[in-house]
Amino acid sequence: MSPMASTPPNLKRIVCLPGDCIGPEVMAVSRRVLEEIAPELELELHSFGASAIRATGDPLPAETLEACRSADAVLKAPIGDPEFDAADVRPEQGIFRLRAELDVYANLRPARQGAVDLLIARELVGGLYFGVRGVREDGTVFDTCEYHPSQVERIARRAFELARSRRGRLTSVDKANVLETSRLWRRVIREVAADYPDVEVEDMLVDNAAMQLASAPEQFDVIVTENMFGDILSDLAAAMTGGLGLAPSASLGDSRPGIFEPVHGSAPDIAGRGIANPAGMLRSTALMLEHGLERPAEASAVEDAVDVALREAPTPDIGGRATTAEFADRVLAALVP
Ligand code: NAD
Repeated sequence: MSPMASTPPNLKRIVCLPGDCIGPEVMAVSRRVLEEIAPELELELHSFGASAIRATGDPLPAETLEACRSADAVLKAPIGDPEFDAADVRPEQGIFRLRAELDVYANLRPARQGAVDLLIARELVGGLYFGVRGVREDGTVFDTCEYHPSQVERIARRAFELARSRRGRLTSVDKANVLETSRLWRRVIREVAADYPDVEVEDMLVDNAAMQLASAPEQFDVIVTENMFGDILSDLAAAMTGGLGLAPSASLGDSRPGIFEPVHGSAPDIAGRGIANPAGMLRSTALMLEHGLERPAEASAVEDAVDVALREAPTPDIGGRATTAEFADRVLAALVP
């Protein structure tokens, strides 16, 4: 019996944003997989990114935003096109707006390979990237880093819940020997920890965390950290476990739909050649099934099928010769034997 057979019908609306360059190529693979394993899901395509700028002048048209707001989940392929590199209105501006509009404050980045199985929970809508910035009269420029205790508490609770559902270990990464925001971070983590006596929690300074990730990544279960530290550490973790092309992400809020997207960009250098690796997109689709739609059986079926295709039909970026379509065929064959 297939792992999906016992799941009751689940009527949900998924907004698919195919994006730019290789975006539509990898999105097509995810849609093929979803249509096969969960045909009752409603998949809607909406315009976002460079293609949306060409059509409407706006990377996140009002119609797309409205569709995302009322969806059960947003499945997003990469956006970005060299045509807009120097433009005032750029595709990437749409991503920041979409994240803020959906208030997705928890960015989850799993990294798995061999004995390594870790998950980074990064705060996504606060800290240095969202603080006041400017230029003073004397030419000094500044960026500020701010956190309110409630912003720390909500990502902390999410991370403790995740640790509880995994191996029960949480590492909180900060720079509390220097930064005031990190001292607040550490205090809130301690307070929230009182509600999770079953989770073992440790604090680690970010410089040490980078060294530990590079030298002994298997020690980690869940890592929780602020926006910029998480940005850097999660790329390091991805590089340690197969590369950015394979890495998925989920961005979650409390009630609104989550955004599920691969970590890599739109790869304009290989667009249209049919050789994009769809693994990051498919793993993001698995995260959507698990965290956005509560369908863990289908999620792990997709994960396992991607692992088979990575071994048996690797694309050129990871040293193989398979095309995107051949990789997809191998995934489908593993899912529906
Ligand atoms: P990139 O990730 O698109 O590409 C870097 C290198 O990795 C390229 O050589 C590319 O061919 C390769 N690569 C990436 N994904 C691949 C895949 N799935 N299969 C095979 N090879 C893959 O990074 P970049 O070149 O710096 O950025 C290109 C565009 O993507 C830019 O416009 C950038 O702003 C945008 N971008 C978007 C997102 C997003 O939508 N979230 C994220 C990062 C970059």
